[in-house]
Amino acid sequence: MVIIGAGFAGIGLGLKLLERGERDFLILDQADGIGGPWWVNRYPGCACDVQSHLYSLSFAPKADWSRQFAPREEIQSYLQTIVDSSGLRQHIQLGTPVRQTRWQEGKQAWQIVTGAGETIECSVLVSAIGGLSRPNRPAIPGLDRFAGPVIHSQEWPDDFDPTGQRVAVIGSGASAIQFVPRIQPKVARLDLYQRTPQWILPKPDRPISPRWQTAYERLPVLRLARRLAIYLLLETRLPAFSHFPWLSGLHRRQARRWLERQVKDPELRAKLRPDYAMGCKRVLMSNDFYPAVAADNCELITTPIARLEPGAVVDAEGSRRAVDSVILATGFKATEPVPAGLIIGRDGRDLAEIWKQGPMAYKGSTVNGFPNLFTLLGPNTALGHNSVLLMIEAQIRYVLDALDFMQQSGTGSLNVRLWDQSAWNDALQQRLARTVWNRGGCASWYRHPVSGRNATLWPRWTWRFALLTRRFDPKAYERKRAVSKV
Ligand code: NAP
Repeated sequence: MVIIGAGFAGIGLGLKLLERGERDFLILDQADGIGGPWWVNRYPGCACDVQSHLYSLSFAPKADWSRQFAPREEIQSYLQTIVDSSGLRQHIQLGTPVRQTRWQEGKQAWQIVTGAGETIECSVLVSAIGGLSRPNRPAIPGLDRFAGPVIHSQEWPDDFDPTGQRVAVIGSGASAIQFVPRIQPKVARLDLYQRTPQWILPKPDRPISPRWQTAYERLPVLRLARRLAIYLLLETRLPAFSHFPWLSGLHRRQARRWLERQVKDPELRAKLRPDYAMGCKRVLMSNDFYPAVAADNCELITTPIARLEPGAVVDAEGSRRAVDSVILATGFKATEPVPAGLIIGRDGRDLAEIWKQGPMAYKGSTVNGFPNLFTLLGPNTALGHNSVLLMIEAQIRYVLDALDFMQQSGTGSLNVRLWDQSAWNDALQQRLARTVWNRGGCASWYRHPVSGRNATLWPRWTWRFALLTRRFDPKAYERKRAVSKV
């Protein structure tokens, strides 16, 4: 097996393979370190917005999380520690971009070509690249001619210091609200270009005392109780975020009060007030974003950007604001997670082409025409209400069960039937059509920008997904017997 991606999904699957005594697998990652997004995203203030005791693998627990919501460095170090202590490191090849993978029908195998030209063959390929790894660069005229640094939040150079600079930040989503408060006190001027305001709640973040950390260490049942409590708290948000927006009335009022308390200027407040249903976009949490935007050296600009000049941003009303650097907090190509030419299936079909109108898979995990390919955090497995690691763990169980089936039945290749894949997606889309994510009056990365299909979110309880993927279901697959390998 070859797994692409050394983030939570790749590492989680690797650990489970080791646990089963499997040794014949490799995890490839183009980055130079472990952690996927938690390695790559290095902007100041990067942290998780799901409580750490739930945002960790159930089979690799950590008792001594330092805060309710861990910072990036601690999450990366958690992943590094479990990789080092389990012996998984020897199965991971870092600094290895995958240039192409191609299914070979005759051999019932995937051929992988790396950036260095190395060729690897495997019977099972797992894409663990997730949906938030390809930066979305806006098509703003003049962006490529800007004279200073243009930095996407995901590619923040370790040595980038905006102290004393005039900085333009484009985008005001989950990443921006984390780094804007960190850079605002340092910069000479911050121009924040906001297209759509966000629903922002206070972040109930606080340190976890050493006493509690010891208690969680000594009494695992306490840690489990904490994990369960967080799980239930987040899971019960589903009805409000899916079908019954009136249920989020309390949270809406809390968000409005938060804005009123933190921003005194009525004009600025009006610009920051969202006019779409809460939950339609990912609900954000921050204690310091509004104060940073309200600071004297920050200007919130809601007029669309017309173009960039080598030293300035010009908006649609013709205002020209000189800046030294531009930070793109414009998110990811979540509905185009796979680049063209990366995954080539049966009959030379390119997965990126097949997913042109938005990704689609069976149970988020397998795609017709791509035998023996599994997609961890694949289509419609992201969550708007709970920890995505719950989905990853369910998918890992599904993959392992599929492997067992293949080994026990002498199956060489599995190809999900188109009928089952379509039936799964039709049911999903019917359910999604009635949700806040589709009908809440906003545009978000959950939906394909052209087709409008929601290709990212799982709209039901997380335990329902776990139940539906608990066992591999061979009836949904065309199977071929293994070819004998001499
Ligand atoms: P995002 O939430 O999608 O925000 C992108 C921002 O850029 C939005 O404000 C968007 O405006 C704006 N934008 C996009 N294209 C633009 C254009 N052409 N012109 C002007 N503005 C443009 O992206 P993100 O902040 O990187 O976060 C993406 C996801 O990553 C999150 O939802 C979350 O799941 C994950 N994330 C998680 C954490 C965490 O705490 N764990 C932190 C960061 C990210 P519109 O709203 O109008 O589209």
